[in-house]
Amino acid sequence: MNAALGRLTTYRVGGPAKGLIQVSKLDELLLVKEAIGRLDVEVPLLVLGNGSNMLVSDRGFDGLVVKLQGSFEQLSVLSDGRAELGGAAMLPVAARKLAASGLSGFEWAVGVPGSFGGAVRMNAGGHGSEIASSLLKVTLLDLLDEEPPKEVKASELNLSYRHSCIRDDQIVLGGEVQLGYDADKKKLKEEISEIVRWRRENQPGGQNAGSVFVNPDSGKKAAQLIEELGLKGLRVRSAHVSMKHANFIQCDEGGSADDVYQLMVEIKQRVRELLGVELKTEIRLIGFEEDAL
Ligand SMILES: Cc1cc2nc3c(=O)[nH]c(=O)nc-3n(C[C@H](O)[C@H](O)[C@H](O)COP(=O)(O)OP(=O)(O)OC[C@H]3O[C@@H](n4cnc5c(N)ncnc54)[C@H](O)[C@@H]3O)c2cc1C
Repeated sequence: MNAALGRLTTYRVGGPAKGLIQVSKLDELLLVKEAIGRLDVEVPLLVLGNGSNMLVSDRGFDGLVVKLQGSFEQLSVLSDGRAELGGAAMLPVAARKLAASGLSGFEWAVGVPGSFGGAVRMNAGGHGSEIASSLLKVTLLDLLDEEPPKEVKASELNLSYRHSCIRDDQIVLGGEVQLGYDADKKKLKEEISEIVRWRRENQPGGQNAGSVFVNPDSGKKAAQLIEELGLKGLRVRSAHVSMKHANFIQCDEGGSADDVYQLMVEIKQRVRELLGVELKTEIRLIGFEEDAL
């Protein structure tokens, strides 16, 4: 069986997966886990969130994709500033709901179009904050062992800049965050509006997956290095470097993931040769065989 995968990502390009299972409840997911355990071949696994940090190759992904939905999209406000988010809860929705409940510290997430699970795996962040700043614990399911879901403290996830130790065969089912409480709801609403305004002004819409490269450990940001070389607007067929943000690569409608990939290779080579900096990829590259990135 072949299932559309590329079009489920924010790049909206790229090929199919061998299989895609969308699960709405924990019992369904546990049945999927049992079925995977019965397979006598090793199948590559991929957990798909909102696909906003991913580029799927035009050839697709030769494995099984698992996507959470339904009950995993829930968000509940608990006591003392804590909140529980499902793995598929969308960050912009969560940011607005938490702010409307007078909980502070999650406003930054309004501009990040990913799921909570994807954000934990990537330790997503922005505007001076990140998931690690408020995360208390997650519920994690390992698809390849025989164990039930387990609680893992945030301190055990090795969260650092756009990194965690969560593997491709592990799913974040949900988690708990600790936020400030009794905050001024009007002020939080204004902060959210300001972040949305800033994003519209400084980042492009359309088909992209946010920043393609992580910022180097020291010195200038990836976007500054790319801009300095005059690469804004640089095109490889259907892909081009955004004129609004040099670390964003846009893809044309009906374009090709391989064009995005080739443009990333081109940028990386020029930054290495002309500025002596080795850029590292932030977005997850799925189904690419080449190792130029
Ligand atoms: C316009 C735009 C702006 C962006 N701005 C930012 C920003 O400011 N800061 C930032 O950090 N990122 C940003 N991003 C990137 C992206 O939105 C984040 O990395 C987001 O957290 C990814 O979540 P996702 O659900 O889309 O994950 P996906 O892209 O679906 O997956 C990303 C990784 O997480 C894994 N994953 C997904 N869900 C789960 C789960 N439930 N359990 C375990 N693993 C999972 C996937 O297997 C994959 O390895 C931006 C993207 C876009 C398109």
